[in-house]
Amino acid sequence: MKNFLLLSLLLTTSLSFSQNFSLPKLAYSYNQLEPTIDSVTMRIHYSKHHQAYITNLNKALGTSNTKSLVEILSTISTQPAVVRNNAGGHYNHTLFWEVLSPKPSKTPNEALLAQINKQFGSLDSLQKSMTLAGTGLFGSGWVWLIVTPTNELKITTTSNQDNPLMDLVTDKGTPILAIDVWEHAYYLKYQNKRADYLKNIWNVIDWKAVSEKYTATLKN
Ligand code: MN
Repeated sequence: MKNFLLLSLLLTTSLSFSQNFSLPKLAYSYNQLEPTIDSVTMRIHYSKHHQAYITNLNKALGTSNTKSLVEILSTISTQPAVVRNNAGGHYNHTLFWEVLSPKPSKTPNEALLAQINKQFGSLDSLQKSMTLAGTGLFGSGWVWLIVTPTNELKITTTSNQDNPLMDLVTDKGTPILAIDVWEHAYYLKYQNKRADYLKNIWNVIDWKAVSEKYTATLKN
């Protein structure tokens, strides 16, 4: 009983007083997104790059952090650059892994498809616009499909590890689809041909996962 109380106290203490972030599990293995994303890129991207953002975020926040990742992002203008880069890095990669699948659904659900058709004409046209946005983004960053505060869809881009949840970005909203356009995401296989990577990425984007995020965002 004494041990149980001590354990409960420790758990409660760690839950209420510190927020340590950890690498989320992948729903697939490194080679399962081939040939679109090669196994070596996946391994390094996930186990080295993403892990480094988490390690550096935990280090920068120290043991006294009680905020969730979304809380940190929404007040990121009050944080130092090291938190901005690494909290963004952690959030962005987590979303990216979630919308990729070795067996992707190629069509959004009814509600999302209706909204896409209304705003972009067709799914194909939306995908082409996102590919184009990523090709045109200078340097490292991300392409997003977000739900705006007025429940519209919008394609946006951010530099470095910024994202649409951050209070300091121009185009704010809830991301439902993220595409990493840092060179580390594609260079081993595609080298300088970012446009080819951005054309092929649609082979592994799971519209079922994106649709679930859309539905969840509208509910909130
Ligand atoms: Mn990345």
